[in-house]
Amino acid sequence: MKLLLVGPVGSGKGTQAAIISKKYGIPHISTGEIFRQHMQNKTELGLKAQEYINAGYLVPEEITFGIVKDRLSQPDCKNGFILDGYPRTMEQAHNLEKITDLDKVILIHLSEEEIIHRLSSRRMCSVCNQPSSLEWLKDGKCEKCGGEVYVRNDDKPEVIKTRLETNRVSEELINFYKNKGIFYKINATNEVEKTFALLESLLNE
Ligand SMILES: [Zn+2]
Repeated sequence: MKLLLVGPVGSGKGTQAAIISKKYGIPHISTGEIFRQHMQNKTELGLKAQEYINAGYLVPEEITFGIVKDRLSQPDCKNGFILDGYPRTMEQAHNLEKITDLDKVILIHLSEEEIIHRLSSRRMCSVCNQPSSLEWLKDGKCEKCGGEVYVRNDDKPEVIKTRLETNRVSEELINFYKNKGIFYKINATNEVEKTFALLESLLNE
């Protein structure tokens, strides 16, 4: 099962990918997450990527493709994977085709208004790294472990707008996968469980 989840930032695709990963035993490969780990460890790659991501821009393709190629060659990908965050452009889609064929491309759709609401209320736990929402916090702290929470750099209002623009799923990319007959779209306005139920019935088709 080689999947690509696409959707605007804040659509909850990361959460959905994590659930699929657990349930189907295939790795969730989030290029954003890989970059964040590099940045946390302050690797050379991480420092380079940091400049782009902090400003809300995409990391140059030569760097990103190298990372994806390396990751997909790992043994845990032999039964499939869930790509999240790559490809976003036609250049990336063509590069990906050189190394693998996708089975399904699923767009997790959410309106721009709803996205802005979700992102601006997102909080990260500084202890257990769990993403949360303002409404779920307990006395302003992580609902899971009680740790202090913070706003991720790229969830700050001034960066959200740029992220929405640079991360918008391109029509061209969608049409590319539509033409291949592997494109599907589900609505993410419902809660996580309902969205997953929609996804699951699609995956079992
Ligand atoms: Zn926590």
